[in-house]
Amino acid sequence: MSHAFLEVESLKKTFPAARGGDPLTVFDGVDFNIEKGEFICVIGHSGCGKSTILNVLAGLDEATDGNVFMDGKEVKGPSLDRGVIFQNHSLLPWKSALANVVFATQARWPGWSRQQVREHAMKYIRLVGLEGSETRRPAELSGGMRQRVGIARAFAIEPKLLLMDEPFGALDALTRGTIQDELLRIWSDSGQTVFMITHDVDEAILLSDRILLMTNGPEAHVAEAVKVDIPRPRDRTSIIEHPNY
Ligand code: ADP
Ligand code: MG
Repeated sequence: MSHAFLEVESLKKTFPAARGGDPLTVFDGVDFNIEKGEFICVIGHSGCGKSTILNVLAGLDEATDGNVFMDGKEVKGPSLDRGVIFQNHSLLPWKSALANVVFATQARWPGWSRQQVREHAMKYIRLVGLEGSETRRPAELSGGMRQRVGIARAFAIEPKLLLMDEPFGALDALTRGTIQDELLRIWSDSGQTVFMITHDVDEAILLSDRILLMTNGPEAHVAEAVKVDIPRPRDRTSIIEHPNY
């Protein structure tokens, strides 16, 4: 039977009641498919359940009902097939930018030689424009550079599905523009599937093949996933270098 790369069926999430409160059903009956290599952006108002869906796709949280299949297999628990980038990219503070990427690469391919691991990590450091700064530790890098290390690390482990929860929310507009360009370039070379939450509609239109719009249904706290097809502007190929970030 043919199946989409990622299939989400009748997904429901209810958080149990806090003391004295009622249980909260964040969404119910969410259905969507994602094809291999697609770039999907998720938009929707704050609190509609975007992060909750992402956590379920990542296997970091369990759905109350419904199913998620990746490559036809049920998603259960975290896996290196599914990489996650959060807004507060959790870099190891005592390791250099390169060592952060090396660490993730080693975990992914424990059998590789040190040389192989280093070359692979350096390739991704170069891709995000951090060559020359790779020996600096996170505290010695700007916010934009730290975010690039996070992106390099996530892409370096070559997850089949890359999940990002508002990864650029904390960046200034100029840095965000540069990193968006880099992300698109890496993504179009990699063939990876990306699922990215953003609160920025312009960003969603710029980056994504399709937008997953989460809206409130007739009942409070019930979200419905709607797919909107938006062609990406194809002529946006110029990359402006801002080496000082
Ligand atoms: P979004 O990312 O779209 O802003 P979230 O997925 O973070 O929204 O949250 C959706 C709803 O679920 C919110 O009302 C939030 O308060 C609630 N929620 C999120 N995580 C938990 C949790 N662990 N326990 C209880 N309620 C939660
Ligand atoms: Mg969120």
